[in-house]
Amino acid sequence: MENSTEPKITPEEPEITLRCNKCDRPITPSEAVLTPTGYRCKDCVNQQQKVFDTSKPLDYVWAFIAAVVISFLGSLLGFFIGFYIFLLAPAAGVAVAEVVRLIVRKRRSTKLFKLVRIAVVVGALPLFLIGLLNAIVTLGEGTFTLYSVLPFAYQMLYIILAAPSAYYRLSGRRRP
Ligand SMILES: [Zn+2]
Repeated sequence: MENSTEPKITPEEPEITLRCNKCDRPITPSEAVLTPTGYRCKDCVNQQQKVFDTSKPLDYVWAFIAAVVISFLGSLLGFFIGFYIFLLAPAAGVAVAEVVRLIVRKRRSTKLFKLVRIAVVVGALPLFLIGLLNAIVTLGEGTFTLYSVLPFAYQMLYIILAAPSAYYRLSGRRRP
């Protein structure tokens, strides 16, 4: 066993300057793609991107519907708790992300996550618009007070907090 006659590849081959750190294939500097984990050949990079996007077309439909419904329920709850919406909104975003993750069975794609972020906004729109309308009407009636804008302001806060919360929870990325 020790007398193996297999030719050994010497690590110092002068013409090869780089190796793909995944498949170990020699690559020229022009072929090399710099990734966060080092240099890779184009084949490996393409394959990696396919792994990142594992979503199926129906995932988008169900994820959107689920995110809209949960976000609406969250905003409805926020309508009653007023100021504490700032605590509820990020939790609602997390709830959206967890349910979506279950529905799509942990399949992932950046497009899917961005769609969910939009769906959270869409789900919160009805109460947001009602709040806005209410503020405008009271303004027209001359009965406008700080309390006229509060429902609208809280719903805006909900959107601002819940949408990124859902997105970052799903994508696993840290907030910038
Ligand atoms: Zn490679």
